[in-house]
Amino acid sequence: MNPLSQLPSVDRLLASAALLPLISSHGRAVVTEATRAALAAAREAVKQGAPLPGEAMLIARVGAGVTAKMAPRLRPVFNLTGTVLHTNLGRAPLPEEAVQALVMAARNPCALEYDIDSGGRGDRDDIVNELLCELTGAEAATVVNNNAAAVFLLLNTLAPKKQVIVSRGELIEIGGAFRVPDIMSRAGARLVEVGTTNRTHLRDFAEAINPRTAMLMKVHASNYAIHGFTHAVPEAELAALAHDRGLPFVIDLGSGTLTDLAAYGLPHEPTPREAIVAGADLVTFSGDKLLGGPQAGLLVGRKELIAKIKKNPLKRALRVGKLTLAALEAVLALYRDPERLHLRLTAVRQLRRPEAEIAAQAARLLPALLSALGELPVTAQIIALKSQIGSGSLPVDRLPSAGFAIRPVGKKSGVLNRIEAALRGVTPPLRPVIGRIEDGALLLDLRCLDAKDEQDFLDTLAGLRAG
Ligand SMILES: *Cc1c(COP(=O)(O)O)cnc(C)c1O
Repeated sequence: MNPLSQLPSVDRLLASAALLPLISSHGRAVVTEATRAALAAAREAVKQGAPLPGEAMLIARVGAGVTAKMAPRLRPVFNLTGTVLHTNLGRAPLPEEAVQALVMAARNPCALEYDIDSGGRGDRDDIVNELLCELTGAEAATVVNNNAAAVFLLLNTLAPKKQVIVSRGELIEIGGAFRVPDIMSRAGARLVEVGTTNRTHLRDFAEAINPRTAMLMKVHASNYAIHGFTHAVPEAELAALAHDRGLPFVIDLGSGTLTDLAAYGLPHEPTPREAIVAGADLVTFSGDKLLGGPQAGLLVGRKELIAKIKKNPLKRALRVGKLTLAALEAVLALYRDPERLHLRLTAVRQLRRPEAEIAAQAARLLPALLSALGELPVTAQIIALKSQIGSGSLPVDRLPSAGFAIRPVGKKSGVLNRIEAALRGVTPPLRPVIGRIEDGALLLDLRCLDAKDEQDFLDTLAGLRAG
């Protein structure tokens, strides 16, 4: 007798009581699809000589199939990489104030482009315009999808078919394929490189200016630093030269922190206010780097230039939605209270966490880690680490931190990859843990593990031990 004929039909499996809870939570269509897939796979396996699976086994496979298919792809993880503003992990986590604002905007109609006072049409940029001007000293502001879009829109508006003069030392690539020369050409502007990689002088800019020049531009070198025999032209001198020739001077700041981070014990990073004071006519920066907000590109500067940028039809294609504006407004409002910013803004709070506090957390969690690792041929210790800020900010500065180093006993280095994969591979509702393997050790930097998430972290470790 053909063993395949002994497999139950789709209808019979679907009628089994064991599948009812799955159908009621995910719907009949999804469970039917998973049942067909489980039966097809079983048919193939049996043809290859596998034993005939029982009905309980098939139902378990249907359940696993449904769970895997329905699990959200955008899963929360523990960022224990040691890079605080990790681009691949979504950069800055939002503060609670922004989360609340975002939920409110998601749930309700809101005055996005509606002027409640007059009952007439409003401008979505007005939601954050006043805050941005107040915090940067600029005359006007506009918001787009990210800083790459801000730079693109700026160039496309002010320099189509015209020349933009940039120092060779600033023709950078940011991770994820943002290259200044490429953005420039796609925006329709002609790049004019001046100076050399390590040294550029004011006369290099002055000699390059001609009737086809649209602007002088400075790009913050973000993710790399050059040391030694170097020279860059101070911003105020570039601004004076540009204005003397009737040209705008623009700065792509990359990571825009709205306050002097040195006041919070962190390395200084240039601010949009400093750029405006130095004479920049337009400044662009990201919303989700050091600023600590949602993904957005912020453009601030002179009123007539911002007005021109807002009239570019591409602004419509690059604009942000109400969720972004809600979160951005809430984050910007936190900057009005600098005394408590470091307590309320998640990114700054994480960047400032003292090493001793992180080490104490490590001591608290070590027993659970050791128990999760069980009999595996590894050691786990608390060690001092250096966190990075990330997202191209302050590339040479490192923050003293603490965490775990898991090392193989003897030469069994494959075990580290297995543990790393297991920490990543936990199934929902457990949250994957993302660490890094470096110098023969699996490192888990605890800087970004908030106290409120410790229990979830312990759950993941317990899940690991069970698996
Ligand atoms: C990060 C960065 C960008 C790109 O910003 P996104 O917000 O990621 O689009 C552009 N320029 C500089 C200098 C940067 O550091």
